[in-house]
Amino acid sequence: MLTCVILIGAPGAGKGTQALTMAQTANLVHVASGDMFREAMGKRTLRGLQAKVYVDRGELVPDNVTVAMVLDRLSQKDAEQGVVLDGFPRTVAQAEALDRVLDAEGTKVDLALNLSVPGDELLRRLSGRWLCRQCQASYHEVFNPSAQPGKCDRCGGDLYQRDDDRVETARHRLEVYFEQTTPVIEYYRRRGVLDEVDGSKDISEVGAAIRQVVKRRVVSI
Ligand code: ADP
Ligand code: ADP
Ligand code: ZN
Repeated sequence: MLTCVILIGAPGAGKGTQALTMAQTANLVHVASGDMFREAMGKRTLRGLQAKVYVDRGELVPDNVTVAMVLDRLSQKDAEQGVVLDGFPRTVAQAEALDRVLDAEGTKVDLALNLSVPGDELLRRLSGRWLCRQCQASYHEVFNPSAQPGKCDRCGGDLYQRDDDRVETARHRLEVYFEQTTPVIEYYRRRGVLDEVDGSKDISEVGAAIRQVVKRRVVSI
C-alpha cells in the first residue's frame, strides 16, 4: 500500500467530511468502517447482523468482526494506491492488527491525524447531521446544509438521520470513544506518526490545516 493515513476523532469530529475531500484531492481510497457496517446492516448480511446490536447501542463492534472486515477491504486491489482510514482503528488491539498486516507488506502508517473537538460541539454536530443514503456524504442542517433540502449535492440521493445520532446514544458513543479510542492516540504518538488538528474551526479551515499536515508528513502524496 502506497499511503496509509488514519483519521482519529470522536463521533462528530468531522472525520467523514474531511476524509471525503482528502480521498479526492490526494487520490486515496476512503475506507470508513461505520459506512461499511451500515451497508452490511442494510443488506442484512451475517456481518451486518453481528454488528447491529452493538451499533444500535452505540457500542463498538467486537474487534475480531471489525478487523476482519477492514483488512478484507484493504486487501482489495484498489487499496494499493493508498487509503484514508475513517473510524478505524478504534481500539489498541485494532491498531496492532493493522500494524501487523502493514508490517508484513513492508509498509506502515504514514500519519495518524487526531481531529480534536470539544464535547458540546460534538453533540450539536451529531444532532443536526444528515447523511446521503447513496454516497454517505455528510451534511449538517445548520453548519453545512445541502443546496436542496433532503437531497445530496454530490449525487442527488436522499438524506436521512442516523438512529444512533439521537442524543442518548450519541452521549454513550462519546463515552465509549473516551474510554476505548483515546488510548489509540497515545499508541500512534509513541510510534512517531501522530499529528493533531483543531477540528473545531469551520470545515474549510480544518481542511486547509489537514492539507498542511499531510504535505509535511506524507512523502508519497
Ligand atoms: P464523523 O465522521 O467524525 O462522525 P462527520 O464528518 O459526519 O463526522 O461530521 C459530523 C457532523 O458535523 C456533520 O453533520 C457535518 O456536516 C458536521 N461538520 C463536520 N465538520 C464540521 C465543522 N468543521 N464545523 C461544523 N460542522 C461540521
Ligand atoms: P461516527 O462517524 O459517528 O464516528 P461511525 O459511522 O464511524 O461513527 O461508526 C458507527 C458505529 O459503527 C459505531 O458506533 C460502532 O458501533 C461501529 N463501528 C465503526 N467503526 C468501528 C470500529 N473501528 N470498531 C468497532 N466498531 C465500529
Ligand atoms: Zn450522495
